[in-house]
This record gives sequence, C-alpha cells and structure tokens, in this order.
Amino acid sequence: LSRELGYEEPAPSTSLLNGKRSSTPSGKPSLRDFQFGKTLGEGAYSTVKLATSRADGKQYAVKIMFKVHLDRARKLKTVSTEHKALQRLNGHPGIVALYHAFQDEFSFYLVIELAAKGEMQSVISRLGSLSTRCTQYYAAQIVDALEYMHSKDVIHRDLKPENLLLDDAFRIKIADFGTGKVLENGDQRATTFVGTAQYQAPELLELNETTKSSDYWAFGCIVYQMISGRFAFNSLSDYLTWQKIKKVEYEFPNGFDEQAKDLVQNLLVHDAPKRLGAGPPGTPNDPNALKSHAFFTPIVWTSLWTDPAPPLE
Ligand code: ATP
Repeated sequence: LSRELGYEEPAPSTSLLNGKRSSTPSGKPSLRDFQFGKTLGEGAYSTVKLATSRADGKQYAVKIMFKVHLDRARKLKTVSTEHKALQRLNGHPGIVALYHAFQDEFSFYLVIELAAKGEMQSVISRLGSLSTRCTQYYAAQIVDALEYMHSKDVIHRDLKPENLLLDDAFRIKIADFGTGKVLENGDQRATTFVGTAQYQAPELLELNETTKSSDYWAFGCIVYQMISGRFAFNSLSDYLTWQKIKKVEYEFPNGFDEQAKDLVQNLLVHDAPKRLGAGPPGTPNDPNALKSHAFFTPIVWTSLWTDPAPPLE
C-alpha cells in the first residue's frame, strides 16, 4: 500500500528524539514515542492530536489519517500529496513544518509543528472581524508564505481561514496541503475539482482548472472576510454561490477600508493571469507588486516574522 502511494519516510532532517533511542529498531519514530493529548481538530479522513515527545517533552500536532477511511473514499493520494508538499516547503515560518512521517497497520501519521493558538476562523468568529492593522499584518504573512509556496511550485487550492493556523506568538502557519498540488515538470495548472465553495475561483468552476493564481483569488476572499466578517461570495446553496463567483458579484459593506477595497478589487479579478500577485516575476502584477500595494504601506517586510504580532482586535 505504502509503495503504491509513493509514501516514503522523509529524511530525518530534524530529529524528534534528540539523539535518544527510538522505540523502533530502525530509529524512526513510532506511536510509542509520543504521549497523545487532546484532539486539536478533525477533518473528513483524519484527526489531529496534540502529542508530546517522550524523549524531549516537546509538543507537536500529529495528523492521524485512517487507512480504511481514506481507501473507502479513494483519498489515499491526499496523504502522499500532503507529505510531498510539506517536505518541499519545510523551512518557511508561515507554513507548518513537517518533522516526521510514519505509518502502522491502521494509519499514516504526520508529525507537524504545533500551531497552539488554533484557527484564524475561530478568531474572526470570536471578534466578528479584524482591525485594519491586524488584517494588514496577517494578510502580509499570507502573501509572504504564498510567494514562497509558489516559488516551490506548490498550489494550496483550499486556502481559507480554517486552514490558516496561529502559533504561540500569533503568527500565521498555513496548514492542510491534502488538496494541494505539487507541480512537476514545468506544469503550471491542475485539473481536479477541489476546495471550499466560498473560496473557489472562477477558472475552477468554468474550466475545471487551478493555477497559482487561484490561491490569490482565495486570498482576496480571505482579506474581504477579515475586514468585514462576512464571506465575499455566499448564498443559500453552493450552486448559487458559484453563480455569484462566476459573475464576480459581491459588494463592499459601508466603512470597508478604502485601501483594502482596492486590494480586494485587484485580487477578485475574473481573468486569472491579471490578478495582483499572479504575474510572473518582473511583470506589473508580480508578487512584488502585491507586496508594494498601498494597503501594505505600514508593513516592514524584512522583520515580518520577527516583529511581535499586533494585539488581536
Ligand atoms: P479538512 O476536512 O479541512 O480537509 P483535514 O483532514 O485535511 O481537514 P487539517 O485541516 O490538516 O485536516 O486539520 C484539521 C484541523 O486540525 C485544523 O483545521 C486545525 O484546527 C487542527 N490542526 C491541524 N494542524 C494543526 C497544527 N499543526 N497545530 C494545531 N492544530 C492543527
């Protein structure tokens, strides 16, 4: 099964066990190396648990994906996709780090960096919406992580506030690459129907196609939602939501920050190549142009990941 999946153990770049002996003869971690705590989240085919390493007492999030469920739903590929994407993206502060991957008879396990402060969705729900300052800060971190992700030829394809996690210092950690696409051999587009209705881009609905630009569409929806507390596109059914998306039919509520409005208008563009951030490097809508947008004027990009987060409000 694992060979079929192309599921291999990652190089032990960071040892969880800190030089101490693991309980497996191969030295690779196994379930017995962790003490499991509360459930951090549940997905359709997985459960994410808080886990403490018995070797050094460090805490991790372990994503447990049940083989029977995955097999029944023909979702086995999501495991190798997520594994491959996280391996490729290891090393950016805005993306959860992958420490280890292993399996037993029943499940696959991904040992991931803990994002202790939970989902951005919970923050938006709790506060109703975010201040302009907070939106600038979090939007900037998402832009920086997206630029890195795309430079490594990974498309997320399901960006939404539920998949934007917060670490101890309230910095963004993008998670859930199960529906991502790792582009190979210069390919620049993917053709599987994925994502969550409210954040799906027109090209997915019309051409069944996603590119890096589709992540910038979802990002536009997220900025709109942070500022207003509402979905940019939503209706009584997914079908009706899709009709609105295809027509780019949305409205700004009164009082919506003017620069944020301009940013969103440049992201929620029907024609994917024209979206701000989606252009190849050196073009007028490349990632640098996005970073230079007036909405980001207060952002100091060089200390984005070391400056303290603004108070959540
Ligand atoms: P979905 O049904 O959204 O596709 P999934 O099975 O792909 O879910 P994830 O989105 O990766 O699973 O994780 C489910 C939830 O578990 C997250 O929304 C989050 O609340 C929690 N979670 C995941 N990873 C972490 C982490 N590294 N630190 C803390 N909590 C996490």
